[in-house]
Parts: sequence; structure tokens; C-alpha cells
Amino acid sequence: KPTTPVVLYWHRTDLRLHDSPALTTALSLKPSVFIPIWTWDPHYVYHARVGPNRWRFLLDSQKDLSKSYTTLNPKQKLWVVREGPMTVLPKLWKAWGITHLVFEQDTDAYARDRDEGVMKLAEKEGIEVIVKVGRTLFDPDMLVRNNQGKPVVSMSQVEKAGDKINGGRPDRPIDAPGSVPDPWNEERMDLSGVEFGGVEVEGDLNAAYRVEEDRQYSRIMGPKGDFGIPTLEEIGIGEDQVEGPHRGGESVALKILAGYIEDEEYIGTFEKPNTSPAAFEPQSTTLLSPHLHFGSLSVRKFFWDVQDVFSKRKKEKKQNAPIPTNLPGQLLFREMYFAAQAALGYKFQRTYGNKMVRFIDWHLQSKTPEELEKEGPTAQPYHVDSPEAEEWFQRWREGRTGFPWIDALMRQLKQEGWIHHLGRHSVACFLTRGGCYVSWERGAEVFEEWLIDHEMASNIGNWMWLSCTAFYNQYYRCYSPISFGKKWDPQGDFVRKYCPELAKFDKKYIFEPWKAPIADQRKWGCRISGDGSVESKEKMQEQGEEQTYPKPMFDFDERRTFCMDAMKNAYSIGLHGDDREVLNGTWRKA
Ligand code: FAD
Repeated sequence: KPTTPVVLYWHRTDLRLHDSPALTTALSLKPSVFIPIWTWDPHYVYHARVGPNRWRFLLDSQKDLSKSYTTLNPKQKLWVVREGPMTVLPKLWKAWGITHLVFEQDTDAYARDRDEGVMKLAEKEGIEVIVKVGRTLFDPDMLVRNNQGKPVVSMSQVEKAGDKINGGRPDRPIDAPGSVPDPWNEERMDLSGVEFGGVEVEGDLNAAYRVEEDRQYSRIMGPKGDFGIPTLEEIGIGEDQVEGPHRGGESVALKILAGYIEDEEYIGTFEKPNTSPAAFEPQSTTLLSPHLHFGSLSVRKFFWDVQDVFSKRKKEKKQNAPIPTNLPGQLLFREMYFAAQAALGYKFQRTYGNKMVRFIDWHLQSKTPEELEKEGPTAQPYHVDSPEAEEWFQRWREGRTGFPWIDALMRQLKQEGWIHHLGRHSVACFLTRGGCYVSWERGAEVFEEWLIDHEMASNIGNWMWLSCTAFYNQYYRCYSPISFGKKWDPQGDFVRKYCPELAKFDKKYIFEPWKAPIADQRKWGCRISGDGSVESKEKMQEQGEEQTYPKPMFDFDERRTFCMDAMKNAYSIGLHGDDREVLNGTWRKA
């Protein structure tokens, strides 16, 4: 065994060098050999829904980090290992004589399981494991403990629980390292002779399952000798599939942040409800969320850079916007969702078994695991209570509801991977309690695939909020897809950008194009007809109409009334995800 530390640094949620408590700790061990790696995770690669824009953002972030390592030490880079952690890490420990494994804490349910499995294996091999908090301002587990072990579900609970940690003041950010030690020499780093081996895990079914999963997929990915950053092509994504303008990487993130911080007026007066969901190029909020997700930006740096502007403005006797609508408030919302998830693990992600979530009899909702098992492998994964609901869901997903405000947002989401918070409010409310009456879980799946900032805790938590199933309960406050759009996009510029078929429509009709006289529709080069599907468009083309935009898929006022009555009824029944009727599926017979 080496007498000096040989450190394997495992990058996961922290694709950065600045302000990384885990990386700083790893380097403080004064390693004789230091190897920063990224491992393919079969869960991420094959099970999570990851759309092309998010893949590119991840690869951008890896490339940028690798370049930064090489700048610090020409022998270094980010060593990408194409195999799942459960099988590949033990091989690396052995091949590279590793003494220490260091990584940033990840409280996502799957990540906790994976990390526990890895730590057990490491213990067996005598590897010292060091885990540090760095993804959030506060340790989500500590917030939960300070909240009497319960999920943190309100801003006041976050503030109260946070106050007990360092008086509510997160640690100041740490500088990026000025140098990093060498890896092994080329010969020792080369793993090309290492066979795919796998590790046996006895008695722990969960871990055994994951090892099996890793083994299966590692054969497909195969360890690749050069440890290089994969290309989109290697992952099977064509360049033409990546349409979004938003690029990843620590250097991009720091530049964006610095730009905002320089604009002290923007930072001091930022109030979320006053930012426009219809703004584009530039958007009205920071768009730093994907960087926080991949850890290419430290949340503590974001927080403290803003606080420093606040302090400066205070000295200059200038007002700063209050919590929770200001920028630190936004970051605290993120803390809240992390600390809600940390308390509940996998249960947080769905309705069934989740005590914090209200049960609503949605038209389209996931079945219980028991129901799925009973129905066998051909079972549909969800209940369909209204024949139209599946159709509405598909039209919502594809941006062809016939409501231009909703369609523009859904198309922006699919093309670019990011939409403004109030845009997310609009489409989430519309799909659930304010239109389609489809379960939030189905909407969350679509966001999971398309968002470049997809964060399990924030996505699930916000979907619960918008569907009034947890965090928020004012279901009678509903977003109109017509008047809310008009308020923020009075000229219709946003709609024209993402629904270009309506580009020539007068602003009077842009949010309700079906009301435009047929002569005007012809004059403006687009007939309002059909359902926006390929078949319906082709049919219209045969009739000589080159361009069409769908008719609204339902009467919004009627649907709003339906939804409110149904929500009122569900609230009065008062079931939650962990009630017996919900767990065994008998609620539907009631
Ligand atoms: P800014 O307004 O500039 O805020 C700064 C940062 O604060 C953000 O980058 C983000 O990290 C955090 N933040 C702001 N608002 C929230 C919030 N409500 N919840 C959690 N964090 C917040 N955010 C995600 O990061 N990932 C998700 O998967 C996600 N899914 C969402 C799903 C729905 C249905 C809704 C309504 C919101 C979701 N959000 C999610 C929250 C929010 O919309 C985004 O964080 C925000 O729009 C990102 O843009 P920004 O960086 O410009 O935000």
C-alpha cells in the first residue's frame, strides 16, 4: 500500500474547481497522486430521461472542467470512465492503488443508495471515503433534523432551520485551487488491459441489482482507453437534435454570474414576480439554474456575491428587494425542495406512499406498483379516466393545444431546455388543476426529459406546488392561458417567436387566433383548423391551406370550472399519498 495518499476524486454534482469543499478537502490530503474522474452512471445514461440539450450541457461542463485541470497541470484532465460506479470503482481502486475516495454529498434518493453501496465496497477494500456538502447552501439533512425530522415545506421553515446552522449564514466560498498534483504516469493510468470484472455483493438485494445493472450496461459502453470526454455522436445524439442556445461549463457560468453582479441595480431590485416569462434574448432571470444543477456554479458563490452587492447598496442607502422574492430568496426555495426530498427519499418523487402529497383523482395518473404487477408486462402505466385526457396530454407535450401562450412555452422548453419560472407555472397549472386535470407526475416526466436544469427535488417539488398537492393550496387561483399571456406579452412577440405560423396575426387575436375572421386568417397566411397533428396538417394542405395552427383543444372556461369543482371535492375528501385507499387502489371504487 502506498504510504502517501493516492486520491480518487469523483466528480458528480460539482463540475467546477471554485468553491468545492470536497475538492479542497481532497487536495488538503496532499496526495502524491490525484485522479479526478467522472464515471458513467447507467441510471443516468439509461434510466433517467435526459434530452439532447441536457446531454450537451453535461458534455460542455465536462470539457470545460477538463480544460481547467489541464491549465493547472498539463498532465491532468477530467478522466471519464465509461462504466457504472459500482463495478468500475473497485477496479480503479485496485489498478491505481487508491487510498482515498472523495466526493460531494448528493441527497437525491438514487444517489444516496448508490453512494451507500460504493461506501460499503470501499470499506471492504480499506479505502477511506470522505464526503462533503457543497451542492446546497446548507446540508439538507441538517435542515431536516432542525425541522424535527420532517420535510421542510415552507420558506419560514427553511429560514428557521437554516438559522440554527451558523446563524443562517452559509459558509463563504473557497477559492479554486492554484495547482493540482499529477496523476500516475501514462502506463499506470492505462486501463485498457483491465477486464470487465464486476463485484459480487451478497445479501444486499438493492446493491446486487445495481451491480447487475452496471454490468449489463458496461458491456455496451465499454471502458475506453483514452478517458476522453464523449462526443454527442458517441452517445447517439445527432447535432441536429440539439437546438438550444444555452451552453454549459464553469467558465461560462462564472462569466454569466459576473455580468449580473456588475449590474448592481439588477441584483438589488430583482423581484421574481416582476420578471417577465415572455422575455427572451435576454431572458429576465439569471438562467443560472442548469449551472447550479451540474455544479458548474457554486450556490454559495452565487449567494455571497449577491449578498456583497446588497451590503454595498445598503451602505449607499439604496434599497434591496426582500426575501423571498429577491435572489437569495430564490436560492432558499431551492434549499426548501432539497430538504423536502432529503426527508422522504424515493417517496418524495410520486404520490403513492408520499404522506406530504394530496391525492387528487386526476384523469391521467400513475398506477400503484401493485396494480402494475397484477396487470402484467403489457399494463399501461397510468389510469385514464377521461378518454380525452391522453390526447390533451400529448397535445400539451407537443405544443399544439391551440392556446398560443401554452404552445409557445412548450415549444421553447423542447427546443431550448429552459423556460421562465412563471412560464413553468402557466404550463404546469394548465396540465393539472387549471385545464386538463392530468396528474402532475406525468408533467414532471416531460420536464425531466427536456429541462437542462432538471433537478429532481426542484422539479417534483414545484410540480406539487403548481398542482396544489403540496406546498401550496390555493387551487382557486388559476392561470388563464389567454389573459396571463396577454399581460406579459402584449405585442405577442414571444408567441410569434415560438409559434412562427402565427407571426403575421394581429396582436388583437394572437392569444385567441380562433376568433380571427377567416378572411384575416387567410390574409395572415395561417388557417386555424384541426388538431396540429401531422395528419391534420396534411389534410388541410390537400385542401390548399399551406399553413395551419390548431383550434383550442377545449373551452378553457368550462375546463376551469370543472377543475375547480373537482379540486374542491378532492380537498374535501382529503386523501394523501400514504392513505390506505390510495396505496391499494380502492379509491377509484369509492
Ligand atoms: P432565477 O430566478 O435567476 O433564480 C436563481 C436560482 O434560484 C435558480 O437558478 C434556481 O436554482 C433557484 N430557484 C429559483 N426559483 C426556484 C424555485 N421555485 N424552486 C427551486 N429553485 C429555484 N428549477 C430547477 O432548478 N430545476 C427544475 O427541475 C425545476 N423544475 C421546475 C418545475 C416547475 C413546474 C416549476 C414551476 C419550477 C421549476 N423550477 C426548477 C424552479 C424555477 O422555475 C427555476 O429554478 C428557474 O426558473 C430557473 O431560472 P433562473 O436560473 O433564471 O432562476
